[in-house]
Order: sequence, then C-alpha cells, then structure tokens
Amino acid sequence: MTNSPVALITGASRGIGRAIALALAAEGFDIAATARPRSGPAEAPPLDEVGARVTGLGRRWLALAADVSDLDGHAGVVEQVDAAFGRLDVFVSNAGVAPKRRMDVLETTPESFDRVMGTNLRGAFFLAQRAARYMLQRREAVAGARPRIVFIGSVSAAASSPSRAEYCISKAGLSMAARLFADRLAGDGIPVFEVRPGIIHTDMTAPVRERYDAAIAGGLVPQRRWGEPEDVARAVVALARGDFDYSTGLVVDVGGGLMLPRL
Ligand code: NDP
Repeated sequence: MTNSPVALITGASRGIGRAIALALAAEGFDIAATARPRSGPAEAPPLDEVGARVTGLGRRWLALAADVSDLDGHAGVVEQVDAAFGRLDVFVSNAGVAPKRRMDVLETTPESFDRVMGTNLRGAFFLAQRAARYMLQRREAVAGARPRIVFIGSVSAAASSPSRAEYCISKAGLSMAARLFADRLAGDGIPVFEVRPGIIHTDMTAPVRERYDAAIAGGLVPQRRWGEPEDVARAVVALARGDFDYSTGLVVDVGGGLMLPRL
C-alpha cells in the first residue's frame, strides 16, 4: 500500500477528465481512471497515453474499463481501487455525454433522454454513492485520509438550451445530487463540490465549434475565449487538495464569466 492520496476519475481517456487526471498526478495523487472499453467488455480502456504520463510523473496508476451507465460494474470499480491502493481520497465524477443529436425540446426522444440521464445522472449518482460508502468505511483505517468528492456538472444546470433538454436536465439533477451528498456527508468530514464548466474545447464541443467561435467572438463569454480542459482541472486540484474544505456544497463556475448576470 502507498501513503500517497488516491484519486479516482471517471471518463479520463480524453478532454476534461484526462486533464484532471494529469493535474492531480502532478499534485501528488496516485490515479485510478475509468474509460469505456472500446469494443466488448474484455477490451482494454483507451487510457494508455494518460497512464504513461501519470507514471512518468512518478505516480501509481490504475486503468479501469467501466461504463458508468452500467450499475452492475460499479462494485468492481471500487473493489479494484481498494485492491490496488487500499484507499480513496478524491472521487471525481466526470464522465458525461452530450445528446448524439441536438433536438428541440418539443422533439426530445425517450431514447436520447434515457441515454444521457443514464450516464450523466443515474450512473454518476450511484457510482458516487458507492465511492462515498467506501470512503466512510476506510477513512478511519487510513492514516491521513481526507476524502472529498467533486462532481463535474455544467453551466447547463442553470442555463437553458432548448436544443439539448436532456443534457440540461441531467446536469440540473446532478447539481442536486452534489448538494444532497454535501449535506449528508458534511458531518462525516467529507466535503462535496460541484464544478460547472462553461464552453470547453474538447471532443464534446467539436460538433459546434464554429458556432461557439462566433458566439464567443461576439461576447457571449465575457473573458472572450474558449475554456481549456486545464482551466477545469486547476479548479478541481484546488478542491481536491483541500483549499475549500470549509465550503462543502460549493459550486465553482469555470466559464469565463458566462453566467454573470449582465445588462
Ligand atoms: P468528452 O466527450 O471529451 O469526454 C467524455 C469522457 O467521458 C470520455 O473520457 C468518455 O470516455 C467518458 N464517458 C462518456 N460516457 C461514459 C460512460 N457511460 N462511462 C464511462 N465513461 C464515459 O467530454 P468533456 O471532456 O468535454 O466532458 C467531461 C465532462 O464535463 C462531462 O460530464 C461533460 O458533461 C462536462 N462538461 C463539458 C463541457 C464542455 O464544454 N466540453 C461543458 C460543461 C460540462 P470514452 O472515451 O469511453 O468515450
């Protein structure tokens, strides 16, 4: 077993999750990371590049194949973290999907609704529940353990986009999940936070890049640039290392001022 703190990040193969894994490794965390297997449950998750960089930073590394929307796989995720490290200090619920196709709220289909909610809300909620139970069970036994949970939500928890209702609803629900866990776990010394990225340069926003280029140039984002995954990762590092431990339930906007009320 190691004395280093351990972070588990879901959806760390690319984008924001990858940046969080690398930033937490640079901060001294050993890293467990999940991604969906590419094809078939026996296939390795696409995490080799991230893993090589984490171990290059001198940190221990565990790659886990897991689909967050598959609740049957959740126990295995936590068990493998326990077997490899024997502790979990920071759980970052990051994995998320956008609708495959943007549709007007009057056209949203049950299939797309279930797919987005299954990962972004149902999967995220129940894996966090499992991580929290494990933290509670282990925290007394692990010297120096200071467990914390961070949910990667979205400005879409508050900002309406009628062309992707299911995404907005999932993130609004996730925001309440973060608040509920913050309330429940406060007395147990486990702070819980929500980070709300704005418009971030990742695969998720690739299909709408030109549209957002124009909107950002037009002033939609007061700080006048795209967010980068590293902007989000820096906020997570501050939360993970305890800078905001007396602020459980805190919601951190990482959106360049996108949510500033303006006249
Ligand atoms: P990307 O599409 O670039 O990456 C998503 C990551 O989540 C991938 O690693 C993907 O893994 C993983 N993932 C998706 N579905 C599942 C699943 N069912 N089980 C396990 N892993 C899964 O997205 P971003 O990096 O942009 O987004 C990360 C988070 O940030 C999401 O929760 C998103 O909603 C949120 N966010 C993003 C914003 C943005 O502008 N980009 C803005 C606001 C919030 P795989 O490689 O297996 O597909």
